[in-house]
Amino acid sequence: YQGLAGRSTIEVLQLYSAHGQQQKLQGSSVVTQLCGTIKKKLKQDLKSLRSFALELSKDFHRQSKTYLYQVLTAVRGIQLQNEAMQMFQIKAFDLEQSLQEVTERYEKEKQKRRALHNSLVELRGNIRVHCRIRPLLPFDTDAGHSKSEDRQRNFSEKVAYAADDETVLMKCSRPGHASINKTFQFERVYNTLESQDIVFVDVAPLLTSLLDGYNVCIMAYGQTGSGKTYTMLGPQLEENFAYSLEDESELGIIPRATQEVFRLLSEKPPGSYWVEVSVVEVYNNEIFDLLAKDSYGKVFGVKRDVVTTREGKSDVPLLTHETVENASEFLNLVNKGLQLRVRHPTLVHAHSSRSHLVVTLTITTVISGDNFGTSWEEELLGQKNKDVSCTFPQKMRESRSSSSSRASSPTQLEATEKLKQIKTRLQLVDLAGSECVGMSGVTGAALRETSYINRSLSALADVLGAIAEQRPHVPYRNSKLTHLLQDSLGGDAKLLVMLCISPDQKYLTESMQTLGFGTRARQVQRGQVKKKNFPVLSKAK
Ligand code: ADP
Ligand code: MG
Repeated sequence: YQGLAGRSTIEVLQLYSAHGQQQKLQGSSVVTQLCGTIKKKLKQDLKSLRSFALELSKDFHRQSKTYLYQVLTAVRGIQLQNEAMQMFQIKAFDLEQSLQEVTERYEKEKQKRRALHNSLVELRGNIRVHCRIRPLLPFDTDAGHSKSEDRQRNFSEKVAYAADDETVLMKCSRPGHASINKTFQFERVYNTLESQDIVFVDVAPLLTSLLDGYNVCIMAYGQTGSGKTYTMLGPQLEENFAYSLEDESELGIIPRATQEVFRLLSEKPPGSYWVEVSVVEVYNNEIFDLLAKDSYGKVFGVKRDVVTTREGKSDVPLLTHETVENASEFLNLVNKGLQLRVRHPTLVHAHSSRSHLVVTLTITTVISGDNFGTSWEEELLGQKNKDVSCTFPQKMRESRSSSSSRASSPTQLEATEKLKQIKTRLQLVDLAGSECVGMSGVTGAALRETSYINRSLSALADVLGAIAEQRPHVPYRNSKLTHLLQDSLGGDAKLLVMLCISPDQKYLTESMQTLGFGTRARQVQRGQVKKKNFPVLSKAK
Protein backbone atom coordinates (compact mmCIF):
# COMPACT_ATOMS: atom_id res chain seq x y z
CA TYR A 1 0.00 0.00 0.00
CA GLN A 2 3.07 2.19 0.49
CA GLY A 3 3.64 1.88 -3.28
CA LEU A 4 0.14 3.12 -3.87
CA ALA A 5 0.61 6.16 -1.80
CA GLY A 6 0.68 9.12 -3.90
CA ARG A 7 -0.87 7.38 -6.95
CA SER A 8 -4.12 8.39 -8.40
CA THR A 9 -7.27 6.33 -8.08
CA ILE A 10 -7.25 5.50 -11.74
CA GLU A 11 -3.75 4.22 -11.48
CA VAL A 12 -4.70 2.17 -8.46
CA LEU A 13 -7.67 0.73 -10.30
CA GLN A 14 -5.53 -0.13 -13.30
CA LEU A 15 -2.99 -1.82 -11.08
CA TYR A 16 -5.77 -3.85 -9.41
CA SER A 17 -7.20 -5.03 -12.65
CA ALA A 18 -3.75 -6.03 -13.97
CA HIS A 19 -3.08 -7.95 -10.76
CA GLY A 20 -6.52 -9.69 -10.97
CA GLN A 21 -5.88 -10.76 -14.56
CA GLN A 22 -2.48 -12.15 -13.60
CA GLN A 23 -4.01 -14.08 -10.74
CA LYS A 24 -6.74 -15.39 -13.01
CA LEU A 25 -4.15 -16.57 -15.48
CA GLN A 26 -2.23 -18.34 -12.72
CA GLY A 27 -5.50 -20.06 -11.33
CA SER A 28 -6.58 -21.43 -14.69
CA SER A 29 -3.24 -23.10 -15.30
CA VAL A 30 -3.48 -24.94 -11.88
CA VAL A 31 -6.97 -26.15 -12.72
CA THR A 32 -5.80 -27.36 -16.07
CA GLN A 33 -2.95 -29.17 -14.36
CA LEU A 34 -5.28 -30.71 -11.81
CA CYS A 35 -7.73 -31.77 -14.46
CA GLY A 36 -4.98 -33.45 -16.40
CA THR A 37 -3.88 -35.41 -13.32
CA ILE A 38 -7.43 -36.41 -12.52
CA LYS A 39 -8.12 -37.44 -16.07
CA LYS A 40 -5.01 -39.54 -16.07
CA LYS A 41 -5.95 -41.13 -12.79
CA LEU A 42 -9.44 -41.77 -13.96
CA LYS A 43 -8.24 -43.34 -17.13
CA GLN A 44 -5.95 -45.64 -15.14
CA ASP A 45 -8.76 -46.59 -12.75
CA LEU A 46 -11.11 -47.23 -15.61
CA LYS A 47 -8.58 -49.39 -17.26
CA SER A 48 -7.95 -51.47 -14.16
CA LEU A 49 -11.66 -51.60 -13.52
CA ARG A 50 -12.24 -52.82 -17.01
CA SER A 51 -9.60 -55.50 -16.67
CA PHE A 52 -11.01 -56.44 -13.28
CA ALA A 53 -14.48 -56.68 -14.75
CA LEU A 54 -13.13 -58.72 -17.58
CA GLU A 55 -11.37 -61.02 -15.16
CA LEU A 56 -14.52 -61.23 -13.07
CA SER A 57 -16.67 -62.08 -16.01
CA LYS A 58 -14.17 -64.69 -17.13
CA ASP A 59 -14.12 -66.11 -13.64
CA PHE A 60 -17.87 -66.09 -13.49
CA HIS A 61 -18.03 -67.79 -16.80
CA ARG A 62 -15.60 -70.43 -15.65
CA GLN A 63 -17.39 -71.02 -12.40
CA SER A 64 -20.81 -71.13 -13.95
CA LYS A 65 -19.48 -73.66 -16.39
CA THR A 66 -18.23 -75.79 -13.48
CA TYR A 67 -21.53 -75.43 -11.65
CA LEU A 68 -23.50 -76.22 -14.74
CA TYR A 69 -21.41 -79.31 -15.20
CA GLN A 70 -21.96 -80.28 -11.58
CA VAL A 71 -25.69 -79.67 -11.90
CA LEU A 72 -25.83 -81.68 -15.07
CA THR A 73 -23.88 -84.51 -13.44
CA ALA A 74 -26.22 -84.42 -10.46
CA VAL A 75 -29.29 -84.42 -12.71
CA ARG A 76 -27.87 -87.33 -14.64
CA GLY A 77 -27.14 -89.09 -11.35
CA ILE A 78 -30.70 -88.52 -10.24
CA GLN A 79 -31.98 -89.74 -13.57
CA LEU A 80 -29.84 -92.85 -13.23
CA GLN A 81 -31.03 -93.32 -9.70
CA ASN A 82 -34.61 -92.92 -10.86
CA GLU A 83 -34.08 -95.47 -13.54
CA ALA A 84 -32.47 -97.81 -11.03
CA MET A 85 -35.33 -97.18 -8.65
CA GLN A 86 -37.81 -97.98 -11.35
CA MET A 87 -35.87 -101.13 -12.15
CA PHE A 88 -35.91 -102.05 -8.49
CA GLN A 89 -39.60 -101.32 -8.33
CA ILE A 90 -40.23 -103.55 -11.31
CA LYS A 91 -38.00 -106.22 -9.79
CA ALA A 92 -39.73 -105.89 -6.41
CA PHE A 93 -43.10 -106.14 -8.11
CA ASP A 94 -41.94 -109.23 -10.01
CA LEU A 95 -40.57 -110.72 -6.82
CA GLU A 96 -43.76 -109.92 -4.98
CA GLN A 97 -45.76 -111.58 -7.69
CA SER A 98 -43.59 -114.66 -7.78
CA LEU A 99 -43.69 -114.78 -3.97
CA GLN A 100 -47.45 -114.68 -4.15
CA GLU A 101 -47.42 -117.42 -6.77
CA VAL A 102 -45.03 -119.50 -4.70
CA THR A 103 -47.16 -118.95 -1.60
CA GLU A 104 -50.27 -119.97 -3.50
CA ARG A 105 -48.48 -123.00 -4.89
CA TYR A 106 -47.16 -123.79 -1.41
CA GLU A 107 -50.68 -123.54 0.02
CA LYS A 108 -51.98 -125.81 -2.73
CA GLU A 109 -49.14 -128.26 -2.20
CA LYS A 110 -49.73 -128.11 1.52
CA GLN A 111 -53.38 -128.89 1.02
CA LYS A 112 -52.51 -131.72 -1.36
CA ARG A 113 -49.98 -133.02 1.14
CA ARG A 114 -52.62 -132.70 3.87
CA ALA A 115 -55.13 -134.58 1.74
CA LEU A 116 -52.57 -137.29 1.01
CA HIS A 117 -51.61 -137.42 4.66
CA ASN A 118 -55.28 -137.66 5.54
CA SER A 119 -55.77 -140.55 3.12
CA LEU A 120 -52.74 -142.23 4.63
CA VAL A 121 -54.16 -141.63 8.10
CA GLU A 122 -57.46 -143.15 6.91
CA LEU A 123 -55.78 -146.14 5.31
CA ARG A 124 -53.60 -146.88 8.28
CA GLY A 125 -56.37 -146.12 10.72
CA ASN A 126 -54.08 -143.69 12.48
CA ILE A 127 -55.26 -141.69 15.41
CA ARG A 128 -55.36 -138.03 14.43
CA VAL A 129 -53.65 -135.90 17.03
CA HIS A 130 -54.18 -132.15 17.27
CA CYS A 131 -52.59 -129.95 19.90
CA ARG A 132 -53.97 -126.72 21.33
CA ILE A 133 -51.84 -124.31 23.32
CA ARG A 134 -54.02 -122.16 25.51
CA PRO A 135 -53.09 -118.51 26.21
CA LEU A 136 -51.35 -117.46 29.41
CA LEU A 137 -54.10 -116.58 31.88
CA PRO A 138 -54.15 -114.44 35.02
CA PHE A 139 -54.30 -117.50 37.28
CA ASP A 140 -51.03 -118.79 35.81
CA THR A 141 -49.26 -116.01 37.69
CA ASP A 142 -51.47 -116.03 40.79
CA ALA A 143 -51.51 -119.66 41.77
CA GLY A 144 -48.80 -121.30 43.80
CA HIS A 145 -46.21 -118.58 43.64
CA SER A 146 -44.69 -116.41 46.32
CA LYS A 147 -44.50 -112.67 45.79
CA SER A 148 -40.77 -112.67 45.10
CA GLU A 149 -41.25 -115.36 42.50
CA ASP A 150 -44.10 -113.38 41.03
CA ARG A 151 -41.90 -110.36 40.60
CA GLN A 152 -39.52 -112.38 38.47
CA ARG A 153 -42.30 -113.78 36.40
CA ASN A 154 -42.94 -112.33 33.02
CA PHE A 155 -44.05 -113.48 29.59
CA SER A 156 -40.65 -114.94 28.79
CA GLU A 157 -41.72 -117.82 31.00
CA LYS A 158 -43.87 -118.98 28.17
CA VAL A 159 -42.27 -122.21 27.02
CA ALA A 160 -44.76 -123.70 24.57
CA TYR A 161 -45.09 -122.20 21.09
CA ALA A 162 -46.77 -123.18 17.87
CA ALA A 163 -43.79 -123.03 15.49
CA ASP A 164 -46.23 -123.53 12.60
CA ASP A 165 -49.62 -125.13 12.21
CA GLU A 166 -48.16 -128.62 12.57
CA THR A 167 -45.31 -128.12 15.02
CA VAL A 168 -45.11 -127.45 18.75
CA LEU A 169 -41.88 -125.93 19.97
CA MET A 170 -40.99 -126.43 23.64
CA LYS A 171 -38.21 -124.42 25.24
CA CYS A 172 -36.96 -126.71 27.95
CA SER A 173 -34.70 -124.97 30.42
CA ARG A 174 -33.50 -125.90 33.86
CA PRO A 175 -31.61 -123.62 36.22
CA GLY A 176 -27.92 -123.86 35.46
CA HIS A 177 -28.46 -125.56 32.10
CA ALA A 178 -28.67 -124.18 28.60
CA SER A 179 -32.19 -124.30 27.23
CA ILE A 180 -32.96 -127.03 24.70
CA ASN A 181 -35.62 -126.67 22.04
CA LYS A 182 -37.76 -129.71 21.39
CA THR A 183 -40.28 -130.00 18.59
CA PHE A 184 -43.33 -132.23 18.24
CA GLN A 185 -45.28 -132.81 15.04
CA PHE A 186 -49.03 -133.32 14.96
CA GLU A 187 -51.76 -133.26 12.34
CA ARG A 188 -52.62 -129.75 13.49
CA VAL A 189 -51.30 -127.35 16.10
CA TYR A 190 -53.37 -124.38 17.31
CA ASN A 191 -51.54 -121.36 18.68
CA THR A 192 -52.78 -119.38 21.64
CA LEU A 193 -54.73 -116.98 19.44
CA GLU A 194 -56.67 -119.54 17.46
CA SER A 195 -60.33 -119.42 18.31
CA GLN A 196 -62.99 -122.03 18.96
CA ASP A 197 -64.20 -121.40 15.39
CA ILE A 198 -60.86 -122.36 13.91
CA VAL A 199 -60.60 -125.47 16.06
CA PHE A 200 -64.03 -126.54 14.90
CA VAL A 201 -63.14 -126.07 11.21
CA ASP A 202 -60.85 -129.11 11.53
CA VAL A 203 -63.45 -131.11 13.45
CA ALA A 204 -66.32 -130.52 11.01
CA PRO A 205 -65.12 -133.01 8.33
CA LEU A 206 -65.33 -135.77 10.95
CA LEU A 207 -69.02 -135.00 11.33
CA THR A 208 -69.54 -135.42 7.60
CA SER A 209 -67.84 -138.79 8.07
CA LEU A 210 -70.27 -139.54 10.89
CA LEU A 211 -73.20 -138.96 8.55
CA ASP A 212 -71.44 -141.04 5.91
CA GLY A 213 -71.53 -143.97 8.29
CA TYR A 214 -68.35 -143.83 10.33
CA ASN A 215 -68.17 -143.83 14.10
CA VAL A 216 -66.26 -140.85 15.40
CA CYS A 217 -64.56 -140.23 18.73
CA ILE A 218 -63.05 -136.91 19.84
CA MET A 219 -61.08 -136.98 23.05
CA ALA A 220 -59.45 -134.11 24.96
CA TYR A 221 -56.27 -135.01 26.86
CA GLY A 222 -54.20 -132.77 29.10
CA GLN A 223 -53.51 -131.68 32.65
CA THR A 224 -56.09 -129.88 34.79
CA GLY A 225 -56.44 -126.27 33.67
CA SER A 226 -54.97 -126.83 30.22
CA GLY A 227 -58.25 -126.08 28.40
CA LYS A 228 -59.86 -129.51 27.83
CA THR A 229 -63.33 -128.50 29.02
CA TYR A 230 -63.00 -125.11 27.33
CA THR A 231 -62.15 -126.85 24.06
CA MET A 232 -64.82 -129.53 24.36
CA LEU A 233 -67.65 -127.47 25.86
CA GLY A 234 -66.70 -123.82 26.19
CA PRO A 235 -66.12 -121.55 29.17
CA GLN A 236 -67.80 -123.00 32.25
CA LEU A 237 -70.01 -121.03 34.58
CA GLU A 238 -68.31 -120.90 37.96
CA GLU A 239 -71.32 -121.59 40.14
CA ASN A 240 -72.77 -124.75 38.62
CA PHE A 241 -70.18 -126.26 36.30
CA ALA A 242 -72.63 -125.92 33.45
CA TYR A 243 -71.25 -124.17 30.46
CA SER A 244 -72.45 -120.90 29.12
CA LEU A 245 -74.44 -120.98 25.90
CA GLU A 246 -74.67 -117.23 25.68
CA ASP A 247 -71.58 -116.31 23.74
CA GLU A 248 -71.77 -118.36 20.56
CA SER A 249 -68.21 -117.57 19.54
CA GLU A 250 -66.93 -119.22 22.72
CA LEU A 251 -68.80 -122.49 22.25
CA GLY A 252 -66.64 -125.59 22.22
CA ILE A 253 -66.64 -128.74 20.14
CA ILE A 254 -69.63 -130.50 21.77
CA PRO A 255 -72.25 -127.77 21.18
CA ARG A 256 -70.89 -126.93 17.74
CA ALA A 257 -70.71 -130.58 16.69
CA THR A 258 -74.27 -131.14 17.86
CA GLN A 259 -75.51 -128.17 15.87
CA GLU A 260 -73.59 -129.33 12.80
CA VAL A 261 -74.92 -132.90 13.11
CA PHE A 262 -78.51 -131.68 13.28
CA ARG A 263 -77.86 -129.35 10.35
CA LEU A 264 -76.52 -132.23 8.27
CA LEU A 265 -79.36 -134.46 9.38
CA SER A 266 -81.93 -131.88 8.29
CA GLU A 267 -80.84 -132.56 4.72
CA LYS A 268 -81.90 -136.21 5.09
CA PRO A 269 -85.48 -137.30 4.47
CA PRO A 270 -87.63 -136.67 7.53
CA GLY A 271 -88.45 -139.82 9.44
CA SER A 272 -85.31 -141.61 8.32
CA TYR A 273 -83.33 -141.16 11.53
CA TRP A 274 -83.42 -140.40 15.20
CA VAL A 275 -80.79 -139.10 17.58
CA GLU A 276 -80.11 -140.23 21.13
CA VAL A 277 -77.82 -138.90 23.79
CA SER A 278 -76.13 -140.55 26.74
CA VAL A 279 -73.92 -138.87 29.30
CA VAL A 280 -71.54 -141.03 31.29
CA GLU A 281 -68.94 -140.23 33.87
CA VAL A 282 -66.06 -142.51 34.81
CA TYR A 283 -65.02 -141.71 38.35
CA ASN A 284 -62.80 -143.90 40.55
CA ASN A 285 -63.11 -146.67 37.97
CA GLU A 286 -66.91 -146.66 38.25
CA ILE A 287 -69.30 -145.77 35.47
CA PHE A 288 -72.13 -143.39 36.32
CA ASP A 289 -75.14 -142.84 34.11
CA LEU A 290 -75.72 -139.10 34.44
CA LEU A 291 -79.09 -139.18 32.65
CA ALA A 292 -80.68 -142.00 34.69
CA LYS A 293 -83.90 -140.93 36.40
CA ASP A 294 -85.41 -142.14 39.65
CA SER A 295 -89.07 -143.11 39.93
CA TYR A 296 -90.03 -139.44 40.39
CA GLY A 297 -88.41 -138.56 37.10
CA LYS A 298 -85.57 -136.69 38.78
CA VAL A 299 -82.16 -137.06 37.26
CA PHE A 300 -79.56 -138.76 39.43
CA GLY A 301 -76.34 -140.61 38.75
CA VAL A 302 -76.65 -144.40 38.73
CA LYS A 303 -73.76 -146.79 38.69
CA ARG A 304 -73.59 -148.92 35.54
CA ASP A 305 -71.32 -151.58 34.26
CA VAL A 306 -69.56 -152.06 30.98
CA VAL A 307 -69.64 -155.46 29.28
CA THR A 308 -68.31 -157.00 26.10
CA THR A 309 -71.03 -158.29 23.78
CA ARG A 310 -70.90 -161.55 21.80
CA GLU A 311 -69.72 -159.55 18.79
CA GLY A 312 -66.80 -158.33 20.86
CA LYS A 313 -68.15 -154.80 21.23
CA SER A 314 -68.30 -152.90 24.49
CA ASP A 315 -71.73 -152.07 25.83
CA VAL A 316 -73.24 -150.46 28.92
CA PRO A 317 -76.47 -152.34 29.72
CA LEU A 318 -79.35 -150.21 30.97
CA LEU A 319 -77.58 -146.99 30.05
CA THR A 320 -80.05 -144.16 29.55
CA HIS A 321 -80.30 -143.00 25.97
CA GLU A 322 -82.54 -139.96 25.68
CA THR A 323 -84.00 -139.23 22.27
CA VAL A 324 -83.56 -135.63 21.22
CA GLU A 325 -84.98 -133.68 18.35
CA ASN A 326 -82.62 -130.78 18.09
CA ALA A 327 -79.31 -129.39 19.28
CA SER A 328 -80.76 -127.41 22.17
CA GLU A 329 -82.55 -130.46 23.61
CA PHE A 330 -79.29 -132.35 23.35
CA LEU A 331 -77.29 -129.60 25.04
CA ASN A 332 -79.82 -129.18 27.83
CA LEU A 333 -79.40 -132.85 28.69
CA VAL A 334 -75.61 -132.54 28.58
CA ASN A 335 -75.86 -129.54 30.90
CA LYS A 336 -78.10 -131.47 33.31
CA GLY A 337 -75.57 -134.29 33.33
CA LEU A 338 -72.73 -131.87 33.94
CA GLN A 339 -74.47 -130.31 36.93
CA LEU A 340 -75.01 -133.73 38.42
CA ARG A 341 -71.31 -134.37 38.14
CA VAL A 342 -70.79 -132.23 41.24
CA ARG A 343 -74.08 -132.74 43.06
CA HIS A 344 -74.30 -136.49 43.31
CA PRO A 345 -73.40 -137.72 46.83
CA THR A 346 -71.28 -140.62 45.62
CA LEU A 347 -69.18 -138.27 43.56
CA VAL A 348 -67.00 -136.71 46.22
CA HIS A 349 -64.75 -134.78 43.88
CA ALA A 350 -65.13 -131.05 43.82
CA HIS A 351 -63.37 -130.56 40.52
CA SER A 352 -64.73 -131.82 37.24
CA SER A 353 -61.23 -132.62 36.05
CA ARG A 354 -61.16 -135.49 38.54
CA SER A 355 -63.40 -137.62 36.36
CA HIS A 356 -63.71 -138.62 32.71
CA LEU A 357 -66.83 -137.43 30.91
CA VAL A 358 -68.16 -139.29 27.88
CA VAL A 359 -71.02 -137.71 25.94
CA THR A 360 -72.35 -139.98 23.21
CA LEU A 361 -74.58 -138.96 20.33
CA THR A 362 -76.05 -141.95 18.51
CA ILE A 363 -77.72 -141.56 15.15
CA THR A 364 -80.00 -144.40 14.17
CA THR A 365 -80.76 -144.30 10.49
CA VAL A 366 -83.85 -146.16 9.42
CA ILE A 367 -83.94 -147.65 5.99
CA SER A 368 -87.33 -148.45 4.62
CA GLY A 369 -88.09 -151.28 2.19
CA ASP A 370 -88.34 -148.72 -0.61
CA ASN A 371 -84.67 -147.98 -0.32
CA PHE A 372 -83.62 -151.57 -0.83
CA GLY A 373 -81.74 -152.29 -3.96
CA THR A 374 -79.59 -149.27 -3.25
CA SER A 375 -76.21 -149.32 -1.61
CA TRP A 376 -77.99 -149.30 1.74
CA GLU A 377 -79.53 -152.69 1.05
CA GLU A 378 -76.28 -154.15 -0.13
CA GLU A 379 -74.66 -152.99 3.02
CA LEU A 380 -77.37 -154.41 5.20
CA LEU A 381 -77.32 -157.70 3.39
CA GLY A 382 -73.60 -157.71 4.02
CA GLN A 383 -74.23 -157.59 7.75
CA LYS A 384 -75.56 -161.12 7.50
CA ASN A 385 -76.02 -162.39 11.01
CA LYS A 386 -76.58 -159.01 12.54
CA ASP A 387 -79.84 -158.15 14.13
CA VAL A 388 -81.09 -155.32 12.02
CA SER A 389 -84.71 -155.31 13.06
CA CYS A 390 -86.09 -151.99 14.07
CA THR A 391 -86.42 -151.10 17.73
CA PHE A 392 -87.81 -147.71 18.55
CA PRO A 393 -86.27 -145.49 21.15
CA GLN A 394 -88.09 -145.25 24.46
CA LYS A 395 -89.07 -141.64 23.98
CA MET A 396 -90.58 -142.47 20.63
CA ARG A 397 -92.71 -145.22 22.05
CA GLU A 398 -93.87 -142.85 24.78
CA SER A 399 -94.68 -140.17 22.30
CA ARG A 400 -96.91 -142.46 20.30
CA SER A 401 -99.93 -141.37 22.31
CA SER A 402 -98.98 -137.74 22.30
CA SER A 403 -99.23 -135.76 19.11
CA SER A 404 -95.55 -135.48 18.49
CA SER A 405 -94.52 -133.78 15.33
CA ARG A 406 -91.21 -135.64 15.40
CA ALA A 407 -89.86 -136.22 11.95
CA SER A 408 -89.33 -139.94 12.45
CA SER A 409 -92.61 -140.53 14.21
CA PRO A 410 -93.11 -144.16 15.31
CA THR A 411 -96.45 -144.38 13.52
CA GLN A 412 -94.70 -143.48 10.35
CA LEU A 413 -92.00 -145.99 11.02
CA GLU A 414 -94.30 -148.84 11.90
CA ALA A 415 -96.36 -148.22 8.82
CA THR A 416 -93.40 -149.14 6.71
CA GLU A 417 -93.21 -152.86 6.31
CA LYS A 418 -89.55 -153.61 6.19
CA LEU A 419 -87.44 -151.38 8.38
CA LYS A 420 -83.75 -151.69 9.01
CA GLN A 421 -81.55 -149.49 11.11
CA ILE A 422 -77.91 -148.55 11.24
CA LYS A 423 -76.35 -146.86 14.22
CA THR A 424 -73.44 -144.48 14.02
CA ARG A 425 -71.92 -142.99 17.12
CA LEU A 426 -70.18 -139.76 18.00
CA GLN A 427 -68.29 -140.04 21.28
CA LEU A 428 -67.04 -136.84 22.86
CA VAL A 429 -64.66 -137.35 25.74
CA ASP A 430 -63.33 -134.87 28.29
CA LEU A 431 -60.66 -136.85 30.15
CA ALA A 432 -59.61 -136.27 33.75
CA GLY A 433 -56.52 -134.12 34.34
CA SER A 434 -53.40 -135.98 33.25
CA GLU A 435 -51.02 -134.35 35.75
CA CYS A 436 -48.93 -136.78 37.75
CA VAL A 437 -49.92 -135.73 41.23
CA GLY A 438 -47.56 -136.94 43.94
CA MET A 439 -49.24 -139.40 46.29
CA SER A 440 -47.27 -138.52 49.42
CA GLY A 441 -49.32 -136.68 51.96
CA VAL A 442 -52.56 -137.33 50.07
CA THR A 443 -55.03 -139.43 51.97
CA GLY A 444 -58.58 -140.71 51.79
CA ALA A 445 -60.77 -139.71 48.89
CA ALA A 446 -58.11 -137.60 47.21
CA LEU A 447 -55.64 -140.50 47.27
CA ARG A 448 -58.22 -142.83 45.73
CA GLU A 449 -59.11 -140.29 43.07
CA THR A 450 -55.52 -139.65 42.11
CA SER A 451 -54.57 -143.28 41.95
CA TYR A 452 -57.66 -144.11 39.84
CA ILE A 453 -56.96 -141.27 37.43
CA ASN A 454 -53.33 -142.29 37.10
CA ARG A 455 -54.31 -145.92 36.58
CA SER A 456 -56.99 -145.20 34.00
CA LEU A 457 -54.75 -142.88 32.01
CA SER A 458 -51.87 -145.33 32.07
CA ALA A 459 -54.34 -148.04 31.01
CA LEU A 460 -55.23 -145.78 28.09
CA ALA A 461 -51.56 -145.42 27.17
CA ASP A 462 -51.07 -149.21 27.55
CA VAL A 463 -53.98 -149.94 25.22
CA LEU A 464 -52.58 -147.58 22.59
CA GLY A 465 -49.12 -149.13 23.08
CA ALA A 466 -50.50 -152.65 22.62
CA ILE A 467 -52.36 -151.63 19.43
CA ALA A 468 -49.27 -149.80 18.13
CA GLU A 469 -47.13 -152.88 18.66
CA GLN A 470 -49.92 -155.08 17.24
CA ARG A 471 -49.85 -157.29 20.30
CA PRO A 472 -52.39 -160.12 20.17
CA HIS A 473 -53.87 -159.07 23.48
CA VAL A 474 -54.96 -155.51 24.04
CA PRO A 475 -55.66 -154.85 27.73
CA TYR A 476 -58.92 -152.95 27.29
CA ARG A 477 -60.37 -154.41 30.46
CA ASN A 478 -57.64 -153.09 32.75
CA SER A 479 -59.75 -150.01 33.31
CA LYS A 480 -63.42 -149.06 32.93
CA LEU A 481 -62.37 -146.09 30.83
CA THR A 482 -60.59 -148.18 28.20
CA HIS A 483 -63.28 -150.86 28.34
CA LEU A 484 -65.95 -148.21 27.72
CA LEU A 485 -63.97 -146.68 24.86
CA GLN A 486 -62.81 -150.06 23.53
CA ASP A 487 -64.54 -149.82 20.13
CA SER A 488 -63.38 -146.29 19.44
CA LEU A 489 -59.81 -146.98 20.52
CA GLY A 490 -59.62 -150.33 18.76
CA GLY A 491 -60.37 -149.06 15.30
CA ASP A 492 -64.14 -148.92 15.02
CA ALA A 493 -64.07 -145.13 14.94
CA LYS A 494 -62.20 -142.25 13.44
CA LEU A 495 -60.39 -141.04 16.51
CA LEU A 496 -59.18 -137.52 17.15
CA VAL A 497 -57.12 -136.78 20.25
CA MET A 498 -57.06 -133.10 21.13
CA LEU A 499 -54.01 -132.48 23.29
CA CYS A 500 -54.36 -129.42 25.50
CA ILE A 501 -51.32 -127.75 27.00
CA SER A 502 -50.65 -124.71 29.15
CA PRO A 503 -47.80 -122.57 27.83
CA ASP A 504 -46.31 -121.63 31.21
CA GLN A 505 -42.87 -122.77 32.39
CA LYS A 506 -44.27 -124.19 35.61
CA TYR A 507 -46.33 -126.78 33.70
CA LEU A 508 -43.38 -127.90 31.55
CA THR A 509 -43.29 -131.46 32.94
CA GLU A 510 -47.03 -131.96 32.46
CA SER A 511 -46.98 -130.44 28.97
CA MET A 512 -44.07 -132.70 27.96
CA GLN A 513 -45.99 -135.70 29.30
CA THR A 514 -49.06 -134.70 27.25
CA LEU A 515 -46.96 -134.19 24.11
CA GLY A 516 -45.32 -137.57 24.68
CA PHE A 517 -48.74 -139.21 24.96
CA GLY A 518 -49.83 -137.55 21.71
CA THR A 519 -46.66 -138.61 19.91
CA ARG A 520 -47.23 -142.24 20.92
CA ALA A 521 -50.90 -142.03 19.93
CA ARG A 522 -49.90 -140.86 16.44
CA GLN A 523 -47.86 -144.00 15.94
CA VAL A 524 -50.85 -146.25 16.42
CA GLN A 525 -52.03 -147.90 13.21
CA ARG A 526 -55.31 -149.70 13.53
CA GLY A 527 -56.15 -150.56 9.94
CA GLN A 528 -58.80 -148.75 7.92
CA VAL A 529 -61.81 -147.68 9.93
CA LYS A 530 -64.93 -149.45 8.70
CA LYS A 531 -67.77 -147.49 7.24
CA LYS A 532 -71.15 -148.67 8.42
CA ASN A 533 -73.02 -148.34 5.14
CA PHE A 534 -70.31 -148.86 2.64
CA PRO A 535 -71.53 -151.57 0.26
CA VAL A 536 -68.20 -152.72 -1.18
CA LEU A 537 -66.70 -153.24 2.24
CA SER A 538 -69.78 -155.06 3.49
CA LYS A 539 -69.72 -157.40 0.54
CA ALA A 540 -66.10 -158.20 1.14
CA LYS A 541 -66.84 -159.22 4.71
P1 ADP B 1 -59.38 -128.29 32.03
O1 ADP B 1 -60.75 -128.74 31.63
O2 ADP B 1 -58.31 -128.87 31.16
O3 ADP B 1 -59.12 -128.51 33.48
P2 ADP B 1 -60.44 -125.69 31.50
O4 ADP B 1 -61.04 -125.94 30.16
O5 ADP B 1 -61.38 -125.67 32.65
O6 ADP B 1 -59.27 -126.73 31.79
O7 ADP B 1 -59.60 -124.33 31.38
C1 ADP B 1 -59.06 -123.68 32.49
C2 ADP B 1 -59.30 -122.18 32.34
O8 ADP B 1 -58.64 -121.68 31.20
C3 ADP B 1 -60.77 -121.83 32.17
O9 ADP B 1 -61.02 -120.66 32.88
C4 ADP B 1 -60.90 -121.59 30.68
O10 ADP B 1 -61.95 -120.69 30.40
C5 ADP B 1 -59.54 -121.03 30.33
N1 ADP B 1 -59.13 -121.39 28.96
C6 ADP B 1 -58.75 -122.60 28.53
N2 ADP B 1 -58.42 -122.59 27.24
C7 ADP B 1 -58.60 -121.32 26.81
C8 ADP B 1 -58.44 -120.64 25.55
N3 ADP B 1 -58.03 -121.29 24.46
N4 ADP B 1 -58.72 -119.34 25.51
C9 ADP B 1 -59.15 -118.67 26.60
N5 ADP B 1 -59.31 -119.24 27.81
C10 ADP B 1 -59.05 -120.54 27.93
MG1 MG C 1 -62.12 -129.73 32.81
